[in-house]
Parts: sequence; C-alpha cells; structure tokens
Amino acid sequence: MANLSKEQRRLYDRERNAELKRQGICTQCKKAPAIPGKTKCVECAKKHAEYLKENPRKLTQADLERQKEKYNENAANGICVYCKKNQTKPGRKYCAECIKKITGYNQKRKKDGG
Ligand SMILES: [Zn+2]
Ligand SMILES: [Zn+2]
Repeated sequence: MANLSKEQRRLYDRERNAELKRQGICTQCKKAPAIPGKTKCVECAKKHAEYLKENPRKLTQADLERQKEKYNENAANGICVYCKKNQTKPGRKYCAECIKKITGYNQKRKKDGG
C-alpha cells in the first residue's frame, strides 16, 4: 500500500472509521468501546469537548450563511427558530415553550442585575 494519494488515503480512513463504527469502537483511539450511538469513547469524547472549549471553532462566512438560511427557512415554515422543533403561532418566531424560556431568562437576569 505504497504511495496512496491524499484522496485514496482519505477514502481508506473513512472506510476504516466506518468499520470501527460498525464494531462500536472509538474512532479516535481505535481501542476503547465507543459510547452507544456515538463514534467516540468516554475518554476521547471528554478530551474532544475540552479541546473544543479551548479552541472554539470559528464560524466561517459559509456557516453563517447556512445558519441564516436555516433560520429563514424555519421562520417561513412556522418552526421555532430557537429549538428548531416546535411549531410556532402564526407571525411568531418562537414556540410557547421557548418564549417562556427566553422571557424567564431575561426576567431572572433583570432581577439578578438589581
Ligand atoms: Zn477513544
Ligand atoms: Zn422552541
């Protein structure tokens, strides 16, 4: 298996990861059993979460565009743009549940702020 091109190597890695996933093995350390429904084991998931905390992924322009598109799509379809799950009342962007959450949060902040 000499001189694999970048593309071939990527495909090879992807297949290997898919195989590990099928076997329920962590695709990161390739040793420990993965958390059910996830691709990483507890240790690697923890490490990854810490890494993300220290190195937050910067949103690219494309990410922002996608977010905006999704937001508009949800708003147009009457889907809550906050939880992206519940239906909203006509003309609203948030579902009742999220409105409660958001206003409750604001009220609490106001009180805490004095
Ligand atoms: Zn692992
Ligand atoms: Zn909602």
